[in-house]
Amino acid sequence: MKINLERLEKNLKELSLFGRKEDGGIDRSLGNEAEEEARSWLLEKALDMGAAIKIDAMANIWINWKTNNSDNKPITLGSHHDAVSDGGMYDGALGVLMGLEIMQTLKENQVPLEHPLQVVSFTAEEPNPFQISTMGSRGVTGKLTLEKLQASRHLITGESLGTAIKRAGGNIQGLLKAQVGKKDMAAFIECHIEQGRNLFDNKLSAGTVTKITGIYREFVTVKGEANHAGTTRMEYRHDAFLAAAQAALVVEETAKALKRRDVVATVGWVEVNPNSANIISGNTKFIMELRFPGEMVKQQMLQRIEKDFLKIENNRGISFQREIILDQAPAPMDEGIMKIIGDEISKEQTPLSLAAEESSGLEFINHVPMLVSMAGHDAVHMSGITRTGMIFVQSIEGKSHCREEKTDGKDIEIAGNALLNAVLRLDKELTNENLN
Ligand SMILES: [Zn+2]
Repeated sequence: MKINLERLEKNLKELSLFGRKEDGGIDRSLGNEAEEEARSWLLEKALDMGAAIKIDAMANIWINWKTNNSDNKPITLGSHHDAVSDGGMYDGALGVLMGLEIMQTLKENQVPLEHPLQVVSFTAEEPNPFQISTMGSRGVTGKLTLEKLQASRHLITGESLGTAIKRAGGNIQGLLKAQVGKKDMAAFIECHIEQGRNLFDNKLSAGTVTKITGIYREFVTVKGEANHAGTTRMEYRHDAFLAAAQAALVVEETAKALKRRDVVATVGWVEVNPNSANIISGNTKFIMELRFPGEMVKQQMLQRIEKDFLKIENNRGISFQREIILDQAPAPMDEGIMKIIGDEISKEQTPLSLAAEESSGLEFINHVPMLVSMAGHDAVHMSGITRTGMIFVQSIEGKSHCREEKTDGKDIEIAGNALLNAVLRLDKELTNENLN
């Protein structure tokens, strides 16, 4: 039994037309028309398949198919149907449509499953004008409050989030009732493009995700002294911008010194005040972000940053005010699901030579690359409520969140067949309870 690649690629193409601009990029974000059209298209697909549909309070779409009357909890596949601004056609879409393709393949082949199969398409996973990302998965796993949802408005149109969710078929007032937990699901697997270049560089189609990176962000305010850029001699300056620039270099060096693939650090947002050519900055703000595989590594980075920031404060006579705005722990994937996905990939994918495996710098188990996801996903939040796994598919040149994002059909096919067989095995192993 194989997935139907032609059908899956046709679906990917059809979904990509919603929000497609003339220059090729896709704008499909909660609140815009394209996002709503994409929803209607998805619902129609599910109805055509004869599956049951539920839209929850967060407007997440749940598509359910069962082959018997057992009370077993469903195995859920899925991802999200929204896209970043000017995004590509695979991020999110592949996970949802792969789930539907697997459902359809099993249905056509009349394969009886012990567990219902469920496909979810989450609302607003990507950064969006309502400024709450992974909104759907966070909402139903208890990580968002009604107050936060009620306070959110579209940055450009001013529409309230509640109204946008309502138009999409949800109702934020029902947030508490929409919570999903252990009792609602036996497992969750997200298929996603890698968005990095580990698979591409090694000419591999698919890999297993071991964990999803932790993300830590601080909002830092640098207080210096604004003064005249001409009359203030260099030795009398307390330049907030230069201190921030130096701090950004510290952040970079802190990550680089660790020489790890699973550690990165970025200062990607800066605000210089008063931002004038003839005034020394008296106040500069920046956001520092660290991505890391574990608490120890995070602490190690923060210790160095603390020490070096103190030096900058002393040398420049400025002060840093630091506020933690995000502290998301890494999300380990379920060992049992990781093993099943890995086994099934190894049956579909031509292995590298041992020498190539060694020189790749990646970790392999049974010739399958074990990858840390350096991007956040809905799976982070699902991993808190059910056994969760992810399968990555190669991104050509590692490109994503851009219109050039591309994944080859042959890689999709290999990953899809591996996931199809993983679902079948998971169905059996969950029944026999021999899943570790
Ligand atoms: Zn995504």
